[in-house]
Amino acid sequence: MSIAFSEEFESTPLITPTLTSQDAGETSLRPKRLSDYTGQEKAKGNLAVYIEAARRRGEPLDHTLLYGPPGLGKTTLAGVIANEMGVNIRVTSGPAIEKPGDLAALLTNLNPGDILFIDEIHRLNRIVEEILYPAMEDFAIDIIVGKGPSANSIRLDLPKFTLVGATTRAGQLSAPLRDRFGVSLRLELYNTEELTRIVTRSAVLLDMEIDPEGAREIASRSRGTPRIANRFLRRVRDFAQVCADGIITREAADMALQRLEVDKLGLDVIDRRMLTAIIQNYSGGPVGLETLAATIGEEAVTLEDVYEPYLMQLGFLTRTPRGRCVTPLAYDHLHIPCAGQSQFSI
Ligand code: ADP
Repeated sequence: MSIAFSEEFESTPLITPTLTSQDAGETSLRPKRLSDYTGQEKAKGNLAVYIEAARRRGEPLDHTLLYGPPGLGKTTLAGVIANEMGVNIRVTSGPAIEKPGDLAALLTNLNPGDILFIDEIHRLNRIVEEILYPAMEDFAIDIIVGKGPSANSIRLDLPKFTLVGATTRAGQLSAPLRDRFGVSLRLELYNTEELTRIVTRSAVLLDMEIDPEGAREIASRSRGTPRIANRFLRRVRDFAQVCADGIITREAADMALQRLEVDKLGLDVIDRRMLTAIIQNYSGGPVGLETLAATIGEEAVTLEDVYEPYLMQLGFLTRTPRGRCVTPLAYDHLHIPCAGQSQFSI
């Protein structure tokens, strides 16, 4: 039996960890409190201390930077921080703040203690970023009133607020901005146990019948990323309802994910094409990212942000100063004989 997906579903890779139309309804799955937020024990443990300390002092939390690959829970964690602190959160993103006036409007509308969440903060433009410096440091902004020789700069005091910034590319943040964050937390890819708990929790919230093995099968193929796990859960439910008895068992999950061309480890067509291209066209590497991207017809930034983190975590890919190399583990997984280790000579 064939299942009809909309064109958009077909054209957006299922494993894209960024938010797509496939994730409609995702917000309802977001944990609200630290105790519901699965995994990230290190970041969570430290954050719990900072929140408690700030609350006892009756002060806002220090400005906090969350960084790590997309889909790991940065936006969710910002919401959790607001709930735990009992304050409001305003959500925006770097590219959405085009002019200094946009940022000034956001900042002057905050109440004391509020959180301003800026997603993709590495994409803020320079002029806007410079307004943020005094706002973060002195809780004030300087506004230019008028034009030409009669222009005047006036200083506006702001309520004490917390800036929570999220980025997938901490390295692209300018040093002055990075230095103004008192707290910096790195989110890591999740392990299968943690993702199993997330899938099980989501299934309960979405009123789906799932058995523990079914949850584990989805989790182990979700590339360490909750957003992908939740997306797979929805797709697997479709298959389970149409092709089986509606219950998400290991077999149903396996059948659905196979149909979606997601293999046992969560690799999709593009992962396999990428690894195979390095092996077949460049003898296992090293090959430069741009060359590789051109070879397989993908964008270099997509390969770097979406595909590489997981392939590197699996130990299938290494980055060397001369380019990307495939490891013997990847040859094994793809069932391609590995002819010696010459690909590792750097
Ligand atoms: P990011 O901002 O890092 O791209 P999000 O915060 O939007 O990621 O998370 C994507 C989805 O994954 C959320 O809607 C939420 O349902 C789920 N999620 C993320 N982190 C967790 C977690 N620790 N526990 C449970 N669900 C999570």
